[in-house]
Amino acid sequence: MSTIYMDNNATTKVDPQVLDEMLPYFSELYGNPSSMHRFGGEVGGKITEARERVAKLLGCEPREIIFTACGTESDNTAIRSALNAQPGKKHIVTTRVEHPAILSLCKHLEKREGYEVTFLNVDTDGNLNLNDLKAAIRDDTAVVSVMWANNETGVIFPVEEIGAICREKGVMFHTDAVQAVGKIPMNLSEMPIDMLSLSGHKLHAPKGVGALYVRKALPFRPFMVGGHQERGRRAGTENTTGIIALGRACEIAGEHIAEENDSVKALRDKLETGLMESIADAKLNGDKEKRLPNTSNISFGYVEGEAILLMMDQLSICASSGSACTSGSLEPSHVLRAMGVPFTFAHGSIRFSLSRFNTEEEVDFIIENLPRVIENLRKISPFSAKDSGPACTPRSTE
Ligand code: PLP
Repeated sequence: MSTIYMDNNATTKVDPQVLDEMLPYFSELYGNPSSMHRFGGEVGGKITEARERVAKLLGCEPREIIFTACGTESDNTAIRSALNAQPGKKHIVTTRVEHPAILSLCKHLEKREGYEVTFLNVDTDGNLNLNDLKAAIRDDTAVVSVMWANNETGVIFPVEEIGAICREKGVMFHTDAVQAVGKIPMNLSEMPIDMLSLSGHKLHAPKGVGALYVRKALPFRPFMVGGHQERGRRAGTENTTGIIALGRACEIAGEHIAEENDSVKALRDKLETGLMESIADAKLNGDKEKRLPNTSNISFGYVEGEAILLMMDQLSICASSGSACTSGSLEPSHVLRAMGVPFTFAHGSIRFSLSRFNTEEEVDFIIENLPRVIENLRKISPFSAKDSGPACTPRSTE
């Protein structure tokens, strides 16, 4: 069997229709959209169309979209804009389970730039306590940043309620929706969200393009300063092919959202049930219901995730593990640790993330083969069901 790709939260395949749309803009229509001539103007028109397509998927106005290079840039721009637009406010509220694009930035701001950050805890299902969030907001809070959906577990946060709390308290609200856009229907014109980040390569556009939604009339300070591109909000000659691709990918995602919610979820559920029923000591990580339709994070107790990944790789199955081997010690993911998943389970966690390109045969192949892989690994595992495994020295990410 050819490669079974179930690592779509890491990155996705460029949809062939997206590729078709962008290709002419490399070689035939390569003008600069800022040029005065018609050759460049044609590309400018295509960027306008892409902006409209992205806005349509999000349910906002095209002028509220700023194109960036990636989700990380969108996240950094949003937080720094909130801080720079409100110089007297030195406090940020976020969660312990954000992607490093937010988490590392917040730690950097705390350590090096004199800001204070409150990192909210989650419960064992990965959910937030909104009373904790309310209590964390202070008079000097510049921004609350809470992801829409978690990249490791798929757990969805109640961004509408969080936004309402922020609005009531007069605090800007940013959401990292890199994993949510294209998977969850959204209508930002009716939601109390001030800023939202997305990334092209998570929704079948290429790597190297992202976008930031900034609600109209929200004070904004650019991160990249230079030319007048993006109405002075993000300098630098546009990644025209990437932007055109992102526009088409958003258009297609809009057409596929219902299908992803049904057929992708059906495949995901079949995979999940099949594995959980046939493998002992398997545990689902994250809220079973409030979850992205494509994501399943399962811990296989008493075996190392990286070993599972290597064995799956032999079978041409691509997925991710919730632990990373750093300097010889296995470090479980900060998300699973925040959820209090025991080490012997956190070590053995595997994230399967599907897309509309996966098939039932692929799911059947995994259900047929993975139980044997886990069984063989458990025979040689240093962990055992009786002890808690070798001492693990987690390095704090806080
Ligand atoms: N935020 C989340 C939730 C993500 O999953 C990712 C990528 O994995 C990012 C931000 C960063 O996006 P990019 O890779 O486009 O910088």
